[in-house]
Amino acid sequence: MDVRSDDGPATDAAALWRLTLEHSPIGMALVDLEGRVMLVNPAFAEMLGRDPQAMRGLHFSEITYSDDVADDVDQFTRAVSGETGSYRVRKRYLRSDGAVVWADLSVGVVRDGSGQPQHLIAQVLDITEQHEAEQRLAAAVAETERERQTLAAVFETVGVGLLLIDAEGRYQRMNRRHRETMSLPFPEGHAGAAGQLGHVYHLDGHTPLSREEMPSYRAAQGEEFTDYRYWVGDDPLTRAAFTTSARQVRSPSGERLGAALAYQEITDLLRALRVKDQFVSSVSHELRTPLTAVLGHLEMLCEDEELPGDVRQRLQVVRRNADRLRSLVSDVLLVARAGEVGLEMERSDVDLVRLVREAVEAARPGAERTGLDLTARTPGRLVVRVDERRVRQVVDNLLSNAVKYTEAGGSVRVTLRLAAGAVELEVADTGIGIAADELGAVFTRFFRGAAATARHIPGTGLGLEITSSIVGAHGGSVAVSSEPGGGSVFTVTLPA
Ligand code: ADP
Repeated sequence: MDVRSDDGPATDAAALWRLTLEHSPIGMALVDLEGRVMLVNPAFAEMLGRDPQAMRGLHFSEITYSDDVADDVDQFTRAVSGETGSYRVRKRYLRSDGAVVWADLSVGVVRDGSGQPQHLIAQVLDITEQHEAEQRLAAAVAETERERQTLAAVFETVGVGLLLIDAEGRYQRMNRRHRETMSLPFPEGHAGAAGQLGHVYHLDGHTPLSREEMPSYRAAQGEEFTDYRYWVGDDPLTRAAFTTSARQVRSPSGERLGAALAYQEITDLLRALRVKDQFVSSVSHELRTPLTAVLGHLEMLCEDEELPGDVRQRLQVVRRNADRLRSLVSDVLLVARAGEVGLEMERSDVDLVRLVREAVEAARPGAERTGLDLTARTPGRLVVRVDERRVRQVVDNLLSNAVKYTEAGGSVRVTLRLAAGAVELEVADTGIGIAADELGAVFTRFFRGAAATARHIPGTGLGLEITSSIVGAHGGSVAVSSEPGGGSVFTVTLPA
């Protein structure tokens, strides 16, 4: 067969081989039986940054990285001796500039007609980049594995119970801590599906959580929540309190994979809070009795016409302050009682219109002193079964706040109405308003707004907490909308 090349007419097989060697992108070399280079092609010389002519006569060990010489020599010897005849290794060559080149080397022995070895032919593929990529991959895999083990260790050792559920609410994985605490709510075992009912109770300690209220069920429905508190366990003496948070787990493309739940035990905290409430409530109770006696006597003294005018004036000051002290003590007592045992209600049929009008008239002198316009809009009559004393306290609190936090010339508007089967009481003012980031906190204990403290407006931060406990105990709710400088609207909704 004739083969043509660019530089001439038909060539013979030897010339063809020379051409192939010359143009091959793969490194090639002929090596004599001692291991000395007879011939290298340009690809191989270039790979090692050397001159092809200068490589002639070099022993292959001279261009091999020192650590790989022994193995290469061993394989070479076994091939020449006929034991193997050929071999393939991954080895390192040395470039002329001292750099290391990773190579995939295949060597075969060329024999003559009688089977005598003549020389060896080597093919060398530069795999430095591939090798480096493999190294990086191996390092990444090792790093991932280390990370996985660290995470697994953390997962197992933290004092917080951890649970992973899939998108259908099936339990995927839980740590040791969570496994340990499962027997309290589920003494008969758990089937591994979110929403199983057990001995799980609301903070009142006796109303069981419904399926929809179970934390795992809520998380399985796609909800996220923080600090969801409840009690678990049948026996009040050994039961434990937990707070749970849930976050949804999504794939990088946003698909919902499931949820992660963290369960922290807060039994000691809740018991300590209860002890604190008991303590506060008994101290306040003890304070109230002597204060009532002091106030009774003060009242009598203030009415005594025989006392000199300046003495009576001073007694009035003492009486006002003692009165303030009594109302403070009652507020603290009420908050502590609500936390300890819940508020006990004394319900009767009450006309809210009368109650609101009385409260407005009681607030009027204070409003007039600050130059406020105080108005009330009510229907003719609205009878509801409530605890009269406590609901009056709600109206008084909202009204006194509205008056307290509104500057001279402003107005306070009270509206009572029946809307969609519920009673709505709205107290709107044109006062200093509440900052957006404080709105969520105004109903918490001892919270005082920055604007209130900056203006030195007196207060304890208890009024709105009391308001919301009383409204809550009636099965109602209280909401606020406000803007700094734009006034506030508090709306109480009570079931009619
Ligand atoms: P107190 O009035 O004793 O501080 P409250 O619990 O009644 O306690 O109110 C809590 C906080 O909410 C107040 O300190 C104040 O910052 C804010 N606040 C309540 N009512 C109003 C209102 N009508 N206008 C503006 N701020 C209010």
